[in-house]
Amino acid sequence: MTLPVIPGRIEVITGPMFSGKSEELIRRLKRARIARQRVACYKPDIDLRYHRTSIASHSSQTHEACTVTNVEHLKAELLPQLHEVDVIGIDEAQFFDATIIPLIVELVHLGKRILIAGLDTTFNAEPFGPIPALMAISDEVTKLSAVCMVCGAPAIHTQRLGQSQELVLVGAAGIYEARCRTHFEPFADDQHTEQLELLSI
Ligand code: ADP
Ligand code: MG
Repeated sequence: MTLPVIPGRIEVITGPMFSGKSEELIRRLKRARIARQRVACYKPDIDLRYHRTSIASHSSQTHEACTVTNVEHLKAELLPQLHEVDVIGIDEAQFFDATIIPLIVELVHLGKRILIAGLDTTFNAEPFGPIPALMAISDEVTKLSAVCMVCGAPAIHTQRLGQSQELVLVGAAGIYEARCRTHFEPFADDQHTEQLELLSI
């Protein structure tokens, strides 16, 4: 007789850039390893800041990770080794499309603990990709704040500096900074929204 599977858990770690999402994800993954749980971590290949085989925080903490191009690729990497994995980490999850949502639901019903880190809003303060929906279906949401680079208050926004029109300028220093509500200045430019839609994020 096969025992029924006890569902796992969905944990979302969110907030603006520099709020410590990757740090917190890495901390939870390391603790899971200490508890002798088997861990797998993934990130989209849009984030090429650091090594392709690890995730990294702005404070230079790292954890081994597999770089995938999209949700299908993530599935293809994960499913063959699923029976050997207890905890699944995903960083920069805002860059995956909405097909990640049913995958996460499937995984949680297979008993997996899924740790999802990602931006909740774009640099235009709009909901970012699948993160808001994942927050809604999660067991736990950790919403972190950064430090506003103008006044030092808690920051919930990611400010894009300069006038670059490119969507994918991931993590480049001096291009983004954390800002509080008072000091955040959104782009008043519909082109950015269109670019986000074109890329389905
Ligand atoms: P995220 O994944 O949310 O972008 P990281 O975990 O990569 O954040 O980095 C968090 C670290 O970034 C902090 O511990 C701190 O060392 C550094 N940092 C740089 N700028 C800021 C800021 N404005 N607010 C908070 N932390 C900052
Ligand atoms: Mg990060």
